[in-house]
Amino acid sequence: MKQFSLNLFSFNVMLPFKIHSPETELYLPAWEKKHVKVTLKRDDLIHPFISGNKWRKLKYNLAEAIRLQKNHLVTFGGTWSNHLLATACAGATFKFRTTAFVRGEEGVNNPVLAMCRLFGMQLIYVERESYRNKENLYKTYFGQDPTTFYIHEGGYGILGAKGCAELVDELRQEYQHIFTACGTGTTLAGIANAIDKRDALTRVHGIPVLKNGGFIQEEVDQLYPNIAPPILHLNYHFGGYAKTTADLLSFVQNFVTNTGIMIEPTYTGKLLYALDDLIKNDYFTPADKILVVHTGGLTGILGMYERFNFIDLHQ
Ligand SMILES: *Cc1c(COP(=O)(O)O)cnc(C)c1O
Repeated sequence: MKQFSLNLFSFNVMLPFKIHSPETELYLPAWEKKHVKVTLKRDDLIHPFISGNKWRKLKYNLAEAIRLQKNHLVTFGGTWSNHLLATACAGATFKFRTTAFVRGEEGVNNPVLAMCRLFGMQLIYVERESYRNKENLYKTYFGQDPTTFYIHEGGYGILGAKGCAELVDELRQEYQHIFTACGTGTTLAGIANAIDKRDALTRVHGIPVLKNGGFIQEEVDQLYPNIAPPILHLNYHFGGYAKTTADLLSFVQNFVTNTGIMIEPTYTGKLLYALDDLIKNDYFTPADKILVVHTGGLTGILGMYERFNFIDLHQ
């Protein structure tokens, strides 16, 4: 019981801490030439490890775990998962035990998994086949355990979406367009629902980072069956999840060099590349105000630095 009261205490410390990430205007010559105004919602600044949308997605999951008097979070992810790192750090912060089923060979290690371990997360490696059936894995290991709380891979679900919707409440002005990258579609669904509820004229756009990203619409429908569907741009996956091209990598380098804002190729690189491409192809109307959500996840770059073929941008 001591553990539970500790939980409640810690969480109550967090509750008054209302997140309000900054909105930063971006001035890039190619975009100014098209007379659009682009603002970045800096969710990457929310927390160094419980980064971006992962904090928003965990918030109501943690609240629900506390309500149910659970003290052990169990979740799922790949070997470079931002969600695992976020869950590990949130667990350490708010006094939960954490366990993750990791899709990968026994003993795989990398900087992200090492940080998960530092935060006290227990890792259970599973191969592809059994990873597919997550409910089954959970039942096998924790079916009889009254202390555990199941969190979907990537923080997917209605509790996650509810946290992401709060991003819209923070905005200081109206935007004609809001853009976010999509993995599970939870962040997009939360934003689309918040906009729908407000009857705002804002159009909500998603950039799926996986191939065949049309499934994102089904995920949004699952969470909110009756809202106006967001616009999905399906052609910016660059070959699939965590796949890159020379073009994407040089875009990332250019963007980071010219703005001083770090992005990475898996999510925010594809997102901003897509936006840049749409702007250059006159997708927008002059004077449109566009909000782009920087969903964080910058530790992903630790596994990708060798892919860059750095060019001298000052020549
Ligand atoms: C996890 C993640 C996403 C995907 O968010 P979903 O809600 O699953 O669509 C986007 N960007 C970053 C940086 C992420 O880490």
